[in-house]
Amino acid sequence: MLVSAKEMLQKAKAGKYAVGHFNINNLEWTKAILLTAEELRSPVILGVSEGAGKYMCGYKTIVGMVNGMLEELKITVPVALHLDHGSYEGAKACIEAGFSSVMFDGSHYPIEENIEKTKELVALTDKLGLSLEAEVGAIGGEEDGVIGAGEVADPKECKMIADLGVTMLAAGIGNIHGKYPANWAGLSFDTLAEIQKLTGTMPLVLHGGTGIPDDMIKKAISLGVSKINVNTECQLVFAEATRKYIEEGKDLVGKGFDPRKLLNPGFEAIKAKVREKMELFGSVGKA
Ligand SMILES: [Zn+2]
Repeated sequence: MLVSAKEMLQKAKAGKYAVGHFNINNLEWTKAILLTAEELRSPVILGVSEGAGKYMCGYKTIVGMVNGMLEELKITVPVALHLDHGSYEGAKACIEAGFSSVMFDGSHYPIEENIEKTKELVALTDKLGLSLEAEVGAIGGEEDGVIGAGEVADPKECKMIADLGVTMLAAGIGNIHGKYPANWAGLSFDTLAEIQKLTGTMPLVLHGGTGIPDDMIKKAISLGVSKINVNTECQLVFAEATRKYIEEGKDLVGKGFDPRKLLNPGFEAIKAKVREKMELFGSVGKA
């Protein structure tokens, strides 16, 4: 059964480790992440962006697939199904479809409007026992054209949003979505420490986990980060393993064209990547 991310993240915050949020794109992705979490006795968060939601034929399809897998694969570790960077409407649609957790990303709204909309969703998710992630200050990305540094949130605004009663808070600390530029300035630990000081026990979320050096990840966890989002990295290893299979001509040998064989190297690559991240984040054996 899907669970809210609240308990697993509060435990992570208290135990100074982080729970991995891994974005899913299809059945292979989901199965690889769930099996690895079960093998390692780790709690896990399955992330779904609105784009991936459309790709997978809608939120209800995803809820059906994930719930089916939890049962058929006999998954016993805590699993949350979470909307990633949701709009206000998207969050409501996921709640209705049966997600156990949603993110409302109001970071592009003026802070007053972000607060207003987040407040409404706090009331709704509280009533249903679901978890809610909010975001303050845009996190940088490839599309914004600013190279070298991600955006950094205002710690006072973080406190304003945290005080609304959200479950977890994403705040820009110089992190970036996608691949990091060569001249990236690194994470702003001063900002993180300041946010942590003002928000206390609130689990903090680090987006854009791909390409942040391991020592920075560990330091971020020590400063209060309890959820780390990983997306691009799984895509890269999946593509690499699939390309290798085809370049080696394995699809041309026997029944190598069978999708169950063709997609298997990518599936195994995701499993290995998820294992590596769970070990780094310290969530192994915490389920
Ligand atoms: Zn993100």
